[in-house]
Amino acid sequence: MNYKRLAEIQAAVLRKEITVEQIVQYYLNNITKHNNLNAFVNVFGDVIDKAKALDDKIKSGQPLGKLFGAIVSIKDNICIKGKPVSAASKILSDYISPYSATVVERIENEDAIIIGTTNCDEFGMGSASTNSAYGPVRNGFDENLIAGGSSGGAAVSVQMDCCLLALGSDTGGSIRQPASLCNVIGMKPTYGSVSRYGLIAYASSFDQIGVLSKDIQVIQTTLEIISGVDSFDSTMSNKELKSNNYKDEINIAVIPEIFDNTNDYTNKCKEAIKSSLSFAKINEVQFDYMKYLVSCYYILTTAEASSNLSRYDGVRYGHRSQDSATLNEMYVNSRTEGFGEEVKKRIMLGTFVLSEGYFDAYYQKAQKIRRLITEQIEGILTTNHAIAMPVTPTPAWAIDKKIEDPIEIYLSDIYTVLANITGLPSISIPVSHQGEIINFQLLGRRGEDFMLLEMLKNLTLNHAF
Ligand code: GLN
Repeated sequence: MNYKRLAEIQAAVLRKEITVEQIVQYYLNNITKHNNLNAFVNVFGDVIDKAKALDDKIKSGQPLGKLFGAIVSIKDNICIKGKPVSAASKILSDYISPYSATVVERIENEDAIIIGTTNCDEFGMGSASTNSAYGPVRNGFDENLIAGGSSGGAAVSVQMDCCLLALGSDTGGSIRQPASLCNVIGMKPTYGSVSRYGLIAYASSFDQIGVLSKDIQVIQTTLEIISGVDSFDSTMSNKELKSNNYKDEINIAVIPEIFDNTNDYTNKCKEAIKSSLSFAKINEVQFDYMKYLVSCYYILTTAEASSNLSRYDGVRYGHRSQDSATLNEMYVNSRTEGFGEEVKKRIMLGTFVLSEGYFDAYYQKAQKIRRLITEQIEGILTTNHAIAMPVTPTPAWAIDKKIEDPIEIYLSDIYTVLANITGLPSISIPVSHQGEIINFQLLGRRGEDFMLLEMLKNLTLNHAF
């Protein structure tokens, strides 16, 4: 298919050069071709029927939704009515969702078609999509490399043209980090701007649904559709995302400490930031809490996860162990059999930091640090429109790399967790720089998500788009 952007696809459909059915068939062929990458958990059998129904609607001249012609993949932790959803966990195997997430309803109301669900780390816990009950996701550039995580399948689904856009979730980088390792655009919106109703919770005060694509315009349109108050999510902000107010000189902050080392990867990123943001004034700023980011994030998210995941007890839904003599044994066995290693580790860590005697020393302290970090970053963003920084400290690693120390993986989240600790919007962008594709992220002001997207239009993006 020669049409890469939604606007081109829609124009071609209206000119009758291509049908929605043919578009879906094109993506289905790509899914089959790249089956070895393990990006999809389910490909929906009814997708061709849905495409035919939309073709009929187009023929009949009825008004069309803003996303007609957009074929979408959904991360396996976002609920779609009547379809399986498992958060890549054995504990939810065979679970069928009785309702759709608000984001799913909203995009379907605009005539988007969902092609299937994508593989990820179990409950979104991981940075490589290797903690999945379905096996690891592989990177389309080199199948021996990780695709990033936790929304690795979402990133690969976009990277390999298996859909036009993907919905994923980002608790500490899970959209932006795989997007960057797969050279596509990934956006985490402002916390509270997009409903989390129907998103399987990992850490509720960090989780946010967002979009991955190669097409900036489709990210913008989708964000316009999925953002906005939803009575099913009481943590939403009642302030609408600001429309773009980008007129004056743009100021972008950089934190020199990030680049002040011998890391070639981040230094190259710094050069790419400077040259691609040449339309803006770059200001060096001081940030005092870099060394606390990862611990603050992991203390608070594991605490929230231990509470959120207590609902999987084998009683109400999900996997139930068969041979238990007592109720208590049934709880223990169901959870032991159903959860993977990483999830168990985090439940234990979270339970520990919330326990009496440690609550003040860890949980409470991390909450205070979260506030300090947020205040300082918001201070930087009063005079700067965004902060530019790398997405990851290193490139993608080998899937079979033996990582003895799990902290090594946690530390790789250092640059992405900032957006979730503060609740600010952030977007990971692949730019062409001296013949290479370099990814960096722009962290923006609260509620100014559209301004970040507007800035992207000034950049020379990945030439393959
Ligand atoms: N890598 C981070 C973690 O493991 C982020 C995951 C996410 O954003 N869901 O928690």
